[in-house]
Amino acid sequence: MKAMITLLPGDGIGPEVVDAAQAMLEAVAERFGHTFKMEAHPIGGAAIDLTGNPLPEETLNACREADAVILGAVGGPKWDDPTAAVRPEQGLLGLRKGLGLFANLRPVQPHPTLLNASPLRPERLENVNLLVVRELTGGIYFGEPRFRRTVNGEEQAVDTMAYTESEVRRVARLAFQLAGKRQGKVTSVDKANVLESSRLWRQTVTQVAEEYPDIALEHLLVDAAAMHLLTRPGTFDVMVTANLFGDILTDEASVLTGSMGNLPSASLGEGTNRFGKPRGLYEPIHGSAPDIAGKGIANPIGTILSTAMMLRHSLGLDDEATAVEAAVDAVLNAGHRTADIARPGESPLNTREMTEKLIERLS
Ligand code: NAD
Repeated sequence: MKAMITLLPGDGIGPEVVDAAQAMLEAVAERFGHTFKMEAHPIGGAAIDLTGNPLPEETLNACREADAVILGAVGGPKWDDPTAAVRPEQGLLGLRKGLGLFANLRPVQPHPTLLNASPLRPERLENVNLLVVRELTGGIYFGEPRFRRTVNGEEQAVDTMAYTESEVRRVARLAFQLAGKRQGKVTSVDKANVLESSRLWRQTVTQVAEEYPDIALEHLLVDAAAMHLLTRPGTFDVMVTANLFGDILTDEASVLTGSMGNLPSASLGEGTNRFGKPRGLYEPIHGSAPDIAGKGIANPIGTILSTAMMLRHSLGLDDEATAVEAAVDAVLNAGHRTADIARPGESPLNTREMTEKLIERLS
């Protein structure tokens, strides 16, 4: 296969983990006889510094032309001024919108050798294998109107949480389809006891469920879901929810695995690539980690597992994806750790050493 992959290293540890992903993809290409053309483009703070725009037209075009996109992370203290006209996060939101990526998939499956890295008791983590499907291009992050005004002499800020039936339907369908390939259960999370947009969400998901009679559906309010994620995480299969709720619940779910550094994600939408597969955006769930940026010690596993998701979902290369996942499994089973997942007394590997170990185990 000849595939075009656009790399968006971004800021902080982004370039460090994307370098690791690129090295892994080069190894996959060599071992399985593929050609991956990989080209890097600026986004986020790096793009603001270069062009004044967090998502330059050239970057967006390169993503539209690619078969898949790999992103590191954006943001950092240098661009944190809340009054600044342009911010790195606008690059990411613009990219999701520009590529029509309406669903973010975050699998959470704690590695058996890392159960002690989680703040939860190991017995709570037994059987945890869940997939959060977060709606990504609607809801309160994009709703209009949004503004500030003065009311009775004080400043007021307004955001809008809006969903259309079709926005809910397409992400719900994806959740049901994914559940069909897993354990056959969907948990839809909303705040239907308070929010009108959530009542439409629940009504639409319930209608979509009729198309999938073999899949079990449960509804949970988001406050209860936040609690059940910690008290009974092993009972969830696919959890589907709105943009804001998904943003919060996925960070909470990441804690089950001990480190954000281990977790991949895929953002999928309607656009297809030259292979008739979704032109997805693949990125670790962590941010730019300014506290460790430049030290070369970032954990590359989340980004490398994101490349496995890319191989599977955008390129249809299941064996190659499984090989990358098996390499991660083997390296963790062998006791290799980066600093974020090392226990006291264990000597951690740096990003480059960890990447080399992962590539060595690729078979
Ligand atoms: P963060 O995920 O960057 O870091 C949280 C903690 O986890 C830090 O202690 C960090 O060192 C550690 N960590 C994260 N990834 C790691 C890895 N791969 N290896 C080892 N340790 C890792 O979250 P934050 O500190 O809240 O945010 C920092 C910046 O990143 C902010 O500017 C934020 O806006 C941005 N951010 C970007 C994205 C994205 O690009 N998708 C997501 C979240 C946050």
